Amino acid sequence: MRAELDTLRVQSQYRTLTDSIPLAHGWIERHGKRMLNLASNHYLGLPHLLDETQLAAALGNAAGQVSTGSTASRLIVGNDPVFAEFEREFAAFKGTEGCLLYGSGYMANVGVISALVGRRGIVFSDRLNHASIVDGIVLSRAEHKRYRHRDLDQLERLLCAAEPGARKLIVTDSVFSMDGSLAPLKELVWLKERYGAHLMVDEAHSGGVFGERGEGLTHALGLTGAVDIQMGTFSKAYGCYGAYVAGDRTLIDYLVNHSRSLIYTTALPPMVVRAVRHNWRLACEAAEARRQLAANAAAFREALQTLGFDTGASECHIVPLLVGGNEATLRLSERLQERGIAAVAIRPPTVPEGTARIRFTLTAAHRPEDLQQAAAAIGESGRELGLIS
Ligand SMILES: *Cc1c(COP(=O)(O)O)cnc(C)c1O
Repeated sequence: MRAELDTLRVQSQYRTLTDSIPLAHGWIERHGKRMLNLASNHYLGLPHLLDETQLAAALGNAAGQVSTGSTASRLIVGNDPVFAEFEREFAAFKGTEGCLLYGSGYMANVGVISALVGRRGIVFSDRLNHASIVDGIVLSRAEHKRYRHRDLDQLERLLCAAEPGARKLIVTDSVFSMDGSLAPLKELVWLKERYGAHLMVDEAHSGGVFGERGEGLTHALGLTGAVDIQMGTFSKAYGCYGAYVAGDRTLIDYLVNHSRSLIYTTALPPMVVRAVRHNWRLACEAAEARRQLAANAAAFREALQTLGFDTGASECHIVPLLVGGNEATLRLSERLQERGIAAVAIRPPTVPEGTARIRFTLTAAHRPEDLQQAAAAIGESGRELGLIS
């Protein structure tokens, strides 16, 4: 282990955990220093500090009691009534027959994919899909067909060549977390219908953000009835924890009977489900935050482009600054830290070779003037390193 850790250090790939303390207006404290937080997934900037009175009102049951643990799996005796209540409300919100809560988005992806396809199945997966999707495919033991990012021609060739009798699942992020690009959902629906496949969409970065009340990209594009499986997390725009799968009744019943990451794990604490419901209700009404988020993202992306940076295919609140080489990316991220900007350097194998980047995420809590100053500081750092002229 020591030798492997030393290798990581030499390759500048050694990771550590750093205390991060959230402050107001999208700022954060790290290493005792105030920084503009351009790495958070708390897209709507919902208030996430409750005082005692608010806590009881938001998280308590009818008797005002807050329950810290579920004491068992949902299938044993861990199914507090709040699960079914919230699942009904959330399914109505999504426009699906049913909904099922999971411990986290990671557990949902791993548990759904491994339940739906097995050894003789085939999963078609965009090569930029999230790691939890990849892990779900590995666990399912299905054949894994990766297609180039949003390459519908290649996907169609793979579907065409697949054994006709095999169970086929196409799975895609709706918003890609390293690029801020959007999945071509309409075209994917067309392909899945044409080739008799099922389609699963991961709304982790679009839930709360897209749609009039934050229903997600599938809903915003009017594709709710055509997408077989939607999943999403409550850990990003909703600022809490846990995840959902939404779809028809048969899907939900099937998962209750087959999904191991639902069956063999303790249910979320009821107070967490209540916190999720509290935040979801706020997020439904947060049209102004959605507008501010879109405005912040557009202004920031434009500022980087005007400086001469390449922001790739970004069309939303995730904005990459493409650098290319690993070393240059690391140097830029260090300069940004010195200038009080917290953003993540992303390198291969997380992204393809030669496309290392700094990944910025915007939130509705950011003040436009802070973002403008940040863009100017990023420009200065880029000039110092010779990345722009
Ligand atoms: C964050 C994320 C997940 C995992 O969700 P958690 O609730 O944090 O476990 C799954 N898919 C995508 C695309 C994500 O970005």
